[in-house]
Formats: sequence, structure tokens, C-alpha cells
Amino acid sequence: MKIVSACLAGVHCRYDCKAQTRPEIEEMVGKGEAIPVCPEQLGGLSTPRPPAERIGEQVLTNKGVDVTDQYKKGAEEAFQIAKLCGASEALLKSKSPMCGSGKIYDGTFTGSLKEGDGVFAELLKKNGIKVSPVD
Ligand code: SF4
Repeated sequence: MKIVSACLAGVHCRYDCKAQTRPEIEEMVGKGEAIPVCPEQLGGLSTPRPPAERIGEQVLTNKGVDVTDQYKKGAEEAFQIAKLCGASEALLKSKSPMCGSGKIYDGTFTGSLKEGDGVFAELLKKNGIKVSPVD
């Protein structure tokens, strides 16, 4: 079983209420091969919500509001779902401060990237779950 970012499966859970549907991900969910999760929503954040980026160990919105606790809670909740499903792999939206893997937005809200993982991707990797970024 795989975990996938819900926005890739057609769920309108992004900060701007949009999805980023990838038909191959949608198909995997439809066949029962993958479970969609949105860790930002699971952390109690609203939709829509202000965009946020990782700055060091914190996650801040573009207005400087600290949403680190919601990010940590959402990552833990989504990880719990991954464990319940026996997931060994995750296909997660690239660049996101929560789901991004390898490269994420750099905290300047300019679209620039830096090396690093989103909070959920980092937690999964620490627990031995393979994470692949999906553009
Ligand atoms: Fe998509 Fe992940 Fe952001 Fe939710 S937290 S909107 S699943 S990238």
C-alpha cells in the first residue's frame, strides 16, 4: 500500500482550495492501491489558508504566523494513517513545506527552492518509509 498527497488525487485541499490532480495517482487510489491524505488539513488548518513555508525548524505563513504545531500534529496524524495501512512508500507533492521531498520552498515566498524535506516527508523518511516527490 502507498500513501499519496490528497491534492494529487483530485482533492481540493491546497491552501488556495485547488487540487493538483495527476491522473496516474487518481487511478492508483481508484484501484485501492493508495490512500490519499492531506497532513495540513489533518493538523487542523483551514482551507483556504495562508501559504506557509519552512524556515529552519519553524513553519511560518506569509504573514509571519507560526503554524509549526499544526504542521507537526498533521504530520503525526498522517503518519498514523500510513502505519494503519501498512504503507511502505509515499508519493508526495513536490516542494511543499509539508509533503515536499529533496527540495522545498526556501522561506522567502518568492518561489525559490532550497534543499530539504517537508515536515511530513521528513517524518516518513525517519521511519523508513520511502518518499518519492511528484511534480
Ligand atoms: Fe497537498 Fe500535502 Fe499540501 Fe495537503 S499538505 S495540500 S496533500 S501538498
